[in-house]
Amino acid sequence: MIEKIYDRILHRNPGEKEFHQAVWEVLESLEPVFARRPELLDESLIERLCEPERQIIFRVPWSDDSGKTHVNRGFRVEFNSALGPYKGGLRFHPSVNLGIIKFLGFEQTFKNALTGMPIGGGKGGSDFDPKGRSDAEVMRFCQSFMTELYRHLGEYTDIPAGDIGVGEREIGYLFGQYRRITNRWEAGVLTGKGVLWGGSQARSEATGYGLVVFTAEMLKTRGESLEGKRVVVSGSGNVAIHAMEKARQLGAVPIACSDSGGYVVEEKGIDLELLKEVKLAERGRLSAYAERSGARFVPDGRVWEVPCEVALPSATQNELDRDDAATLVRNGVLAVGEGANMPTTPEGVRVLREAGVLFGPGKAANAGGVATSALEMQQNASRDSWTFEHTEARLTEIMRHIHDLCHTTAERYGRPGDYVAGANIAGFELVERGMVAQGL
Ligand code: GLU
Repeated sequence: MIEKIYDRILHRNPGEKEFHQAVWEVLESLEPVFARRPELLDESLIERLCEPERQIIFRVPWSDDSGKTHVNRGFRVEFNSALGPYKGGLRFHPSVNLGIIKFLGFEQTFKNALTGMPIGGGKGGSDFDPKGRSDAEVMRFCQSFMTELYRHLGEYTDIPAGDIGVGEREIGYLFGQYRRITNRWEAGVLTGKGVLWGGSQARSEATGYGLVVFTAEMLKTRGESLEGKRVVVSGSGNVAIHAMEKARQLGAVPIACSDSGGYVVEEKGIDLELLKEVKLAERGRLSAYAERSGARFVPDGRVWEVPCEVALPSATQNELDRDDAATLVRNGVLAVGEGANMPTTPEGVRVLREAGVLFGPGKAANAGGVATSALEMQQNASRDSWTFEHTEARLTEIMRHIHDLCHTTAERYGRPGDYVAGANIAGFELVERGMVAQGL
């Protein structure tokens, strides 16, 4: 029966392989729910859940510094608003297409539900490649993007934030254009803003910090901690850097990270101050970091070759496959926490789970980012701003809540220690209850 429903979803969304993957991963783990409540399969609730409420595709024309015109495609998928206004980031990357944005919006719906905050799910972005573009070019692109998108947004309607390729700089240009067009200083319409103009303390740290809090909670269930553990992270952007920072604060040693040019290994621990300077301030390459720090730089090869106890894939989807998982297992990995969205392939997840590795799926483990976005919205709504300490304490509390919710849900359905089942079932139950209560 579930296969039949999945087939219909496949046919309705041809060629969108990441979306199919994300849908199947959820449906598969809902099996124990369907066993208890077979009526769910007849009520077309699953089909409703897998069909975005609204999908917006638009043209984004802009001119580069030489005056040449370019045309990109913009997307916003407003997936589900049963539990709150659509909420989710914008991704600017050449790989972006409708299927990618749908997979991310689908994941976001469950992730946001798990936070326990009043936010629905959405995602957007563009196939624009910010790499090598000047500030002025990025500004003109963001202005053109918002010139169409603004009419679909609002603090009670849809609230974007950052994702790959969209950080505080881009949110600034987008917010400025929204403010100019609407003549409204509507702080709660975007999150990830600069602290000076309505942003929240700890928002840039939140995804990485939350990921490590979640991973530490998983380790605790086995009587383990992060103390003295070697941590390997993929990526070297905002999520990866702050994951390494929190891991270090909790006594672990972050020894390797990567970018599209290769990876660096530093047994004594990555120099995070220098890494921030190179990657965040200068928007430079990891090879430049290695030159300055004296770390070993490996231009080809996979960062997962580096032996570690904790692995945190924090770059992009499907970056840790079956072979990588087998390598990690062989080298004695204890826990894998997903900082990115769906970074582990289904075969990779299987290998890790069969080996008894603790596995924290992205929709639970990386929910700290969007949870702190919801805290930013709270501050905006009450025209308040909280201290770093207060905001981080709320974030930690939310991450522990998500961990416990996933853990107890997995137990309740006879899947102890299975955080994939726990996250998917708990997220599903929350969204489903909201949808049913509000009717068709
Ligand atoms: N892009 C982040 C995510 O994948 C954050 C979204 C947000 O803050 O709205 O959850």
